[in-house]
Amino acid sequence: MRFLSTIPPFNGIGETVRKKLVAGNWKMHGNLAQNSALLLKVAEGTASLDKAECAVCVPFPYLFQAQDLLRRTVVQWGAQNVSQYPSGAYTGEVSAGMLADFGCRYVIVGHSERRRLYAEGDATVAAKVGATQAGGMIPVVCVGETLEEWEAGRTEAVVTGQIQALLDGLGAQAYDRAVVAYEPVWAIGTGKTASPAQAQAVHRMIREVVAQGDQRVAERLRILYGGSVKAANAAELFAMPDIDGALVGGASLDAGEFLAICAAAHESR
Ligand code: PEP
Repeated sequence: MRFLSTIPPFNGIGETVRKKLVAGNWKMHGNLAQNSALLLKVAEGTASLDKAECAVCVPFPYLFQAQDLLRRTVVQWGAQNVSQYPSGAYTGEVSAGMLADFGCRYVIVGHSERRRLYAEGDATVAAKVGATQAGGMIPVVCVGETLEEWEAGRTEAVVTGQIQALLDGLGAQAYDRAVVAYEPVWAIGTGKTASPAQAQAVHRMIREVVAQGDQRVAERLRILYGGSVKAANAAELFAMPDIDGALVGGASLDAGEFLAICAAAHESR
């Protein structure tokens, strides 16, 4: 792992303070009754957690429900995908304007499941990031290496390439209105997690790649960790200086687990 030294280490004192974000990725789970119970518990449990931001990214059909139940709470909501096109003959697609109509704040873009199952490459991811930002929302841009790439020692090259593709396509300013989620593919839904030190090293590297485009943008950029985050490991991950929260899959479907992760973010640093 290469450690660049273009920006000073974040020490929480007199440096840029990045409010932690815990975002749930419900994936293709839920129904009206389950969602209602979960959203009400999350809204109630986060009411006093003002030092962290919490969000849920729900399936498209439930955006109205999320907006309806969360609009007077501190919990933000968002989607898990977006079309790169503003409108037109794209059957089955959902535009950024449509997501904005439902009050979305966040849109997950480039999740590894979309990259792998729907062949979304870096160019598509960049177009979707641009569409999300043009719609006034914040993309949560997912990057991360596969198990094979991890085992081959290619993490740095793969993640740098994914981060750089957005820099090349949209410029460093793209990261000023974005959140990055580092999600090692081998840790998603597997119960395996990168150690806090391993994750920290990659987060630091991401920040330093962005800093080569714009140092101020890099200092402000929130970089989430994702991959089997749960109540039991959240606090040690959040103690790392460049881990600014979590993108949470499975554990976001359990109100107790999700709230404990949000509380760990609220209590960290
Ligand atoms: C995800 O899908 O973004 C994710 C991090 O899933 P999990 O927490 O279940 O590993």
